[in-house]
Amino acid sequence: MKRVLLILLCAVCLFAGCTKQAPHTTKELFAMDTVMHLTVYSQEDGVLKQGEEEIRRLEKLLSVTNENSDIARLNQSKGQWVTVAEETARLLTLAKDYAKQTEGRFDPTVYPAVQAWGFTTDQNRVPLKEELEGLLPLVDYNQIEIKGTQVRLPKGMGVDLGAIAKGYAADKVKGLYETAGVSGILSLGGNVLTVGQKPDGTPFSVAIQDPANAADTLGVLTVTGGQAAVTSGDYQRYFEQNGMRYHHILDPKTAAPAISDLTSVTVIANSAAKADAYATALFVAGKEKALSLAETLNVQAVLVAKDGQILCTDKVQFTPS
Ligand code: AMP
Ligand code: MG
Repeated sequence: MKRVLLILLCAVCLFAGCTKQAPHTTKELFAMDTVMHLTVYSQEDGVLKQGEEEIRRLEKLLSVTNENSDIARLNQSKGQWVTVAEETARLLTLAKDYAKQTEGRFDPTVYPAVQAWGFTTDQNRVPLKEELEGLLPLVDYNQIEIKGTQVRLPKGMGVDLGAIAKGYAADKVKGLYETAGVSGILSLGGNVLTVGQKPDGTPFSVAIQDPANAADTLGVLTVTGGQAAVTSGDYQRYFEQNGMRYHHILDPKTAAPAISDLTSVTVIANSAAKADAYATALFVAGKEKALSLAETLNVQAVLVAKDGQILCTDKVQFTPS
């Protein structure tokens, strides 16, 4: 619930920052466990309905908790080959590529660890060290086998596309806007994607939320039409037990919440799926490694450290509040 509130506030401020001068239509929906806003710079809202349908279609296909989804069937397959939609196979291939590029910091096979911490059910628990150690051999993206639309995971392994699915959905909705010849801005949880040009010709502004205070922003990013700005942060989902806070971004090397000196990472790229996967990976990488990793991956990034320091890659246009 806390997470939903944070994202709602964030989305509202993004919306206010981006559309104050231009006539627009916005649809709000709850999908993929988050609040989303689809905005089009037009009174014609047909594309918003199409966008919502597309997001719901992808949720059905990819959600770990919908037992008929391709991903849930794969996770229940006990080492057998499973036939999935062509799109699922393509997204799994893309996820494997991103895992390789980020040296396994983003790893879609982290699912057994996500389950152990109770993040899929919201019945959170702190697993014992031995339990986590036992899960480590099950976290290895190299072991996902994909042949056409046939996919196989070794027994006990599982896949979770939660760190890329919202970005992928945003890219797909952007495609619908482009086909309809309209511009706008999509905000799917921490995933913002701009489409086309603003009617007044000015660049898009995307606010970055203050991780310490949901009602505040740290500043505003200026992005050109077509760019995504995707944020991963330890404040977006967490639970507390015995005075300790445990967040949802796990380090595939420990199967535990990543011990990062960062509190939020925003990645700016031309694809929201890519920015989504990389934002998760840069968070896991930590402050020292994240900037050089962003450079290697050829994306821009804004890092917010736990001590309040804000670091940006060279080409970022960020105006602090
Ligand atoms: P995001 O909010 O995009 O950073 O994604 C976090 C979600 O992705 C979590 O709620 C988990 O379901 C899953 N996840 C957690 N850690 C990782 C990781 N290191 N790589 C891939 N997926 C992860
Ligand atoms: Mg992500």
